Amino acid sequence: MSVWVVLAAAGRGERLGDDRPKAFARLGDLPLVAEPLRRLDDSDWIDGIVVAAPPGWEEPCIVLAEEIGAGKVSTVVTGGKTRAASVRAALASVPEDAAVVVVHDAARPLVSDDVLGRVLAPLSEGYDGAVPVLPVSDTVKRVRGTEIVETVEREGLVVSQTPQAFLAGSLRRAAAGESTDCSALVEQQGGRIKAVEGDPRLLKITLPEDLELVSAWL
Ligand code: C5P
Repeated sequence: MSVWVVLAAAGRGERLGDDRPKAFARLGDLPLVAEPLRRLDDSDWIDGIVVAAPPGWEEPCIVLAEEIGAGKVSTVVTGGKTRAASVRAALASVPEDAAVVVVHDAARPLVSDDVLGRVLAPLSEGYDGAVPVLPVSDTVKRVRGTEIVETVEREGLVVSQTPQAFLAGSLRRAAAGESTDCSALVEQQGGRIKAVEGDPRLLKITLPEDLELVSAWL
């Protein structure tokens, strides 16, 4: 069973307030995207990687992959306007015979072999996909502006992370849709998705303080 990764790294990361895209913000001594690339490349679960890079940053991405010896990177494509468009662009360069596609956010640098194992296992148990989730510890409310309009029952609520693993066919059939979450697209097509244990260290870097926190965990 060949397992390919789509690494979504094409976001602008405006909330980081940097002069470069988020994937190229500094994390330790290297651009952020080097960390998930190295970890995915090192993983025995993974056969190949396609990266969606920010427009104009394809070449630096290829050079970086070479520098860190990430030999499983087969292609760097130009990302799209939305995350879903970036995933679609990368998916088009995943070989037709790939059995499984793992979609991962470069903005979650600390991807581990453990979580990869957890999302891949359900694919041989009849699931179309698997998603790492974390319980919601705070009470969730819906607001309109500053007005609270609803308090959502916390029971049964989880937050979704990446890496998310899918049978390649299920993801390809769903990929035309628009969502910030690939699993949502496969769910809409009637796909069965298993929730597996997530990892707090898969924090998505959004703000400068997230970068500091993840640096401390390196
Ligand atoms: O913007 P946000 O941090 O939620 O994006 C999640 C992931 O999707 C990031 O790794 C980002 O690089 C990626 N992304 C993308 N193409 C876009 C927008 C986001 O690959 N157009």
